[in-house]
Amino acid sequence: KKGVIAIDGHSSCGKSTVAKDLAKELGYVYIDTGAMYRAVTLFAMQNGLITDGEILLDELQNKLNDIKITFRYRPEEKKNETFLNGTIVEDEIRGLEVSNNVSAVSTIAFVRHRMVELQKEMGKEGGIVMDGRDIGTVVFPDADVKLFMTASPEIRAQRRYDELKAKDSTDNSLSFDAILENVKQRDHMDSTRKESPLKKADDAILLDNSDMNKQEQMDWIMNVLRE
Ligand code: C5P
Repeated sequence: KKGVIAIDGHSSCGKSTVAKDLAKELGYVYIDTGAMYRAVTLFAMQNGLITDGEILLDELQNKLNDIKITFRYRPEEKKNETFLNGTIVEDEIRGLEVSNNVSAVSTIAFVRHRMVELQKEMGKEGGIVMDGRDIGTVVFPDADVKLFMTASPEIRAQRRYDELKAKDSTDNSLSFDAILENVKQRDHMDSTRKESPLKKADDAILLDNSDMNKQEQMDWIMNVLRE
């Protein structure tokens, strides 16, 4: 039977890369829950529901059911594209503006409840690799395999910097310091929020990939899965 693999961990530690590789390897579908919180954040920004970090909660709650998030997953290219109400938003949701607001949006209880509900629905047939912050603890506490990934903040910021730079090498506004600040800020907000804070499930396997390349991580995980 096709199972559920839950991957949680800190921001920018390569969860999605590992999750996509794993999904491809196992013939599972990859679901990026961070993209869902990012899409809600973008929606709020586009509709004037966030100004100077202030979120208009009642309005957002009223509009929550107008937010349709879908994915187009292409295992062969290990590519996952996010759509907000039918429009592709994959690049927009990765930018620093959304990144700077997403942790605040994801502290909101009614947002989390709705996302968790959607995620449970998406995974109910199994055959999925889902990554996020609360997958092994809240969304699928009975997942077949749980991984908790981490790496040092500096290494994570450097990886994200390289990734954004590779996308647009002419972007001079990219700053390593700003990214490091964002990574640390999100760690703090994600792990101290009241509503399902980021924490390792007791039965999750810890993977610190600070000194591991992609292949080493995959080998490590495939070994774990064989056990
Ligand atoms: O995974 P990613 O970095 O794209 O997630 C963006 C943000 O969404 C995280 O910093 C976190 O605040 C939030 N998030 C969450 N729960 C999840 C996935 C993401 O709170 N399951």
